[in-house]
Amino acid sequence: MNWKHCVAPSLLTLSPYQAGLTKAQLKRKLGVEQVYKFASNESPLAISEQIKDALLSAQEEAHIYPDYQDLIAALAQHHGVSVEQVILGNGSIDVIELAFRLVGQPGKSLLCSEFGYSAYPLLAKASGLSVTKVSSSSSFGHQVEALLAAVDDTTAIVALDSPTNMSGDSLSVSQLEALISRLPEQVLVVLDQAYIEFVDGDLGRQTIELLHRHPNVLITRTFSKAYGLAGLRVGYGLADPQLIAWLQRLQRPFPVAGMAVAAALAALQDTEHHRRILDVVAREKLLMCQRLKQCGFEVQLGEGNFLLVDAQEQGEALYQSLLQAGFIVRALSGYQRPELLRISISGSEENLRLIQQIEQVCLTDTEVAL
Ligand SMILES: *Cc1c(COP(=O)(O)O)cnc(C)c1O
Repeated sequence: MNWKHCVAPSLLTLSPYQAGLTKAQLKRKLGVEQVYKFASNESPLAISEQIKDALLSAQEEAHIYPDYQDLIAALAQHHGVSVEQVILGNGSIDVIELAFRLVGQPGKSLLCSEFGYSAYPLLAKASGLSVTKVSSSSSFGHQVEALLAAVDDTTAIVALDSPTNMSGDSLSVSQLEALISRLPEQVLVVLDQAYIEFVDGDLGRQTIELLHRHPNVLITRTFSKAYGLAGLRVGYGLADPQLIAWLQRLQRPFPVAGMAVAAALAALQDTEHHRRILDVVAREKLLMCQRLKQCGFEVQLGEGNFLLVDAQEQGEALYQSLLQAGFIVRALSGYQRPELLRISISGSEENLRLIQQIEQVCLTDTEVAL
């Protein structure tokens, strides 16, 4: 059976999303017990007691379909919007995909940046959109003018990760306003704020205000990163009620598990735990940045819970030698940038082990060079 003859032509060039290697995969491969993961920007902390309790209580209702009203109400209150402006998803990527599917049809396109989140082109093509990429800035961020210049009659949707998944570079509110106010109003703007909670200051709240002025904006957020629930898959979208209603029409029944919903509600309420995640990341990010610079690397200190390291010609070798030692970092060879490694910020002990391993590799290299 050759499925090539059965699938839509637009799907023929798809390749699957390259997720970071999992711990279990590397353990099996190396046959070792201990591996460390710095590849997918998860939280450095395990779930709190409060979240555990919520998961345990939710077990009692595991035999019935979940109810979403409490979490939706809590999110609406948290962000100062109405419940009609909130949609839940199986991770925020689920909500992003709904938006792509909403506007996806032959002849329409997604506009994104060269170094934008790699899942966008993939999901866009699967939704029947063609993909237009514009060049990113030298810090791997979005360029407002370049994006605007690339808009044409086919443009149905613009997807922006801000802070970006690659470098943590972030657009300011005025840059976002400049972009959105000059886009045709029928172009849907997906503003993917997976890392917004890590940004110092008021940017997160200010971007929510964009929703009052722009009914074509969908903001997506997630419990996977700064709320520490990546394994449970809960995300959400915030937008004008009409846009939310359209997205709901495309949604499959019961997209998020009840236990995940209960944990998300507890995570939203456990502000201390959330604060601890932010504090650990902020502190460790600076320390890691310093140590990596001391190794001679150029490091981009973005707004996310990760660092982008330029290891130049050592990039691939460093990635491989870390892997052999049981340390999974993210290689960016998929973006044709093998010199770049993205390192998620983990807990202080794991971070120290990684740094020591990197220093060991660099030291060996120096000795060889001598
Ligand atoms: C991690 C990440 C996501 C995925 O989030 P989920 O809510 O876990 O689906 C989406 N966008 C960006 C930019 C990310 O880095």
